[in-house]
Amino acid sequence: MGMHDYDESTDELARSVFEYALDRIRMEPPMDGPVGVEQLTEAVGQTITAEGLGGTAALATFTDHLAPACISVDHPRYMAWVPCAPTDTAVLFDLIVGASALSATWWFDGSGAIYAENQALRWISDLAGMPEQAGGCFVPGGTMGNLSALVAARDTAIRRRGDPDKRPARWAVVASEGAHSSVSSAARVMDVDVLLAPTDSDRRLRGGAVAEAIAARPEGTEAFAVVGTSGTTNLGTVDALDEIASVAAANSLWFHVDGAYGGAGLAAPSTRHVFEGIEHCDSLIVDPHKWLFAPYDCAALIYRDPAVARLAHTQQAGYLDSINERSDWNPSDYAHHLSRRPRGLPFWFSLAVHGTRSYSEAVEKTLTVTREGAALVESTPYLELIMEPTLSILAFRRNGWTAEEYGAWSDSLLEEGSALVVPTTVDGAPALRLCIVNPRTEIDDLAAIVESLA
Ligand SMILES: *Cc1c(COP(=O)(O)O)cnc(C)c1O
Repeated sequence: MGMHDYDESTDELARSVFEYALDRIRMEPPMDGPVGVEQLTEAVGQTITAEGLGGTAALATFTDHLAPACISVDHPRYMAWVPCAPTDTAVLFDLIVGASALSATWWFDGSGAIYAENQALRWISDLAGMPEQAGGCFVPGGTMGNLSALVAARDTAIRRRGDPDKRPARWAVVASEGAHSSVSSAARVMDVDVLLAPTDSDRRLRGGAVAEAIAARPEGTEAFAVVGTSGTTNLGTVDALDEIASVAAANSLWFHVDGAYGGAGLAAPSTRHVFEGIEHCDSLIVDPHKWLFAPYDCAALIYRDPAVARLAHTQQAGYLDSINERSDWNPSDYAHHLSRRPRGLPFWFSLAVHGTRSYSEAVEKTLTVTREGAALVESTPYLELIMEPTLSILAFRRNGWTAEEYGAWSDSLLEEGSALVVPTTVDGAPALRLCIVNPRTEIDDLAAIVESLA
């Protein structure tokens, strides 16, 4: 029998795969840790062979050696970078997405999946107060979301100029020092410049700084967009979105909001107000794989006017004419991509099952734990809180510690399998940063980390 035939051995493998997947969903996630390539080579060796290993052996290779060489991002004490804490429901549905051979590239192929994805996007658009016609698609991550939005922004600026002779020598995007690294990465890919605007004493980008950065641009450079960050990755601060929106409008600039991490805070009544002005954005990204409990990889990209994004992104070719001739809603038109899986479906299913109120409550839970953690840090003599958390990032210092001491402490926590926390840099000095996006993280988990710093 061929490898595309469902036979007895496939059936046996199916049972093993389901059993393993279900066990993993049910259990407390293991912490595990990175393993060196030599050690993996010794344990696993060459897995791709002419004859194949067979299902049982290949699965055992994964479960016994490869999986334990991966850290579970949903561990409640994984608080480095931005973790991912998917709901069991979302993870279960990911199995169905994988099993169903779904393409959500075009409406023609994936209308049912795209209909559901669009409702999930609509929930985020509504939280942000975006207009009825707003829409977009799910992309793999915030990096692709930022790039695609900025490409649409520049395309719009070019179209507005009309005459190619009227184009500036250099295009530029205005962003703060706190903007995510993917913004400058997108600028490099697009061969545009970044006009860096300083943040104020609250570590937020303000309208005045944006206006000054535009005014101070080099001769021959024109700005086409400004990026506001609603939840900086390092400290979780939210830029003054209302002020930035006004400056963007006054200068006819595209206003992009990067809410990859923090956009989920829109769903929490206690933090909704810090996003004021977000409703004026031309584009917005929010990563459900960060703080909205979806598995990787899932980032929402939403445009105020999807038609302009479509002009920028639709690919043209003879083999695509039959699709482009239709007036359907094709997710492929709204980002730098073509073929795509319906990566928004696990998120949609979980939202549909649990309802939006559960999402608000789960985000609030993480905010409460973060605030309790801030109080704990403040009351601990050997720690210094860097700032009251705006969202769910808790940044502080261990008095007197050097970068080496932070590093050694972080390594030892992971070695014990007790937590994953890595140092960061704030104002040029090492600091600790806990990112709490997992509703299973309790104040006791933070207390254990604080204790280990004594
Ligand atoms: C994480 C992050 C990104 C990049 O998102 P990926 O999904 O990792 O590509 C962009 N912007 C901000 C603010 C982020 O926190």
